[in-house]
Amino acid sequence: MNDVYAALARTIPPQRLLKDAPMRDHTTMRVGGPADVLADAAGEDDVRAVLAACRACGAKLTVIGNGSNLLVRDGGIRGVVLCVGRHMADIRVQGEQIEAQAGATLSALAQAAARANLAGVAALSGIPGTLGGAAVMNAGAYGGEMSQVVQGVCALDGEGRDVRLDAQALAYGYRRSALMGAGLIVTRVRMRLTPGDGAALLEEMAQLARRRREKQPLDWPSAGSTFKRPAQGYAAQLIDEAGLRGLRVGGAQVSQKHTGFIVNAGGATARDVLELMSRVQEAVFERSGVRLEPEVRILGEE
Ligand SMILES: Cc1cc2nc3c(=O)[nH]c(=O)nc-3n(C[C@H](O)[C@H](O)[C@H](O)COP(=O)(O)OP(=O)(O)OC[C@H]3O[C@@H](n4cnc5c(N)ncnc54)[C@H](O)[C@@H]3O)c2cc1C
Repeated sequence: MNDVYAALARTIPPQRLLKDAPMRDHTTMRVGGPADVLADAAGEDDVRAVLAACRACGAKLTVIGNGSNLLVRDGGIRGVVLCVGRHMADIRVQGEQIEAQAGATLSALAQAAARANLAGVAALSGIPGTLGGAAVMNAGAYGGEMSQVVQGVCALDGEGRDVRLDAQALAYGYRRSALMGAGLIVTRVRMRLTPGDGAALLEEMAQLARRRREKQPLDWPSAGSTFKRPAQGYAAQLIDEAGLRGLRVGGAQVSQKHTGFIVNAGGATARDVLELMSRVQEAVFERSGVRLEPEVRILGEE
């Protein structure tokens, strides 16, 4: 790994290039072993440099945004983790269109949209991810979903070539898109919004934030909803009906406040979380015959 670190150190300054970076410091679940190298990109040139270094050194590349939908295993991540986050966060509003870099947060996007009297993303404002992560996951909340506003994305492929995908090519479905597992790094997202009333949008965002604080265990580290909403019912309800509220494995716990969340109640390992997830899946299947599918993305080595 020294090779790829040395190659990257030629272009990326040390404050944005880490060796043996504990992934618990880069995920909202606060769980996960070290990434061999973690590079925090400040622009497309950095992304290209990372791609070139990984190709030259045969290093594996993993891309993350804010790490708010990730469970990284305790053995960490071999190769390079490329973070497209706060240093790639420009947001440009032009008429009813917004084009933003993939590292912009959904909260910053919603604020910028409200300032420009544009509606369509207020419902997404409390999701603690980046636009890139949200475009990949088709993140959504309170009736809003990325697929409703995204017109297209700009990305780089493994060879560093520009790729543009329009909304149709993104093939959005519930918490899925054609970007998943496609080996592309999203650098920009283009959206079309509709005219709205900025003050009303800010009020809506404040109300939704209060609702989240009331219902969700925001005081504990988590990766949001652990499981996808199944075709039958709601994951949280099924988990509750199976009597699993508060169930604990090591430091991982089914939230007392919202059973759809597994929280890190203190010192959880990824092994604890994975064991708890599989106990929840088994118990729910036994009680209701529903197979819960993880919404969190599981990365890294045992
Ligand atoms: C408290 C809490 C509440 C949440 N509420 C919601 C909610 O209401 N609705 C919802 O949908 N989600 C919710 N989430 C989950 C999460 O915030 C979303 O899935 C978010 O979109 C993930 O964005 P991220 O930047 O953190 O992506 P990450 O978690 O870093 O990555 C997610 C996936 O996207 C990929 N990815 C990230 N950036 C890029 C990029 N630039 N190019 C290519 N691939 C990329 C990663 O490889 C990974 O597969 C919540 C999470 C928490 C902790």
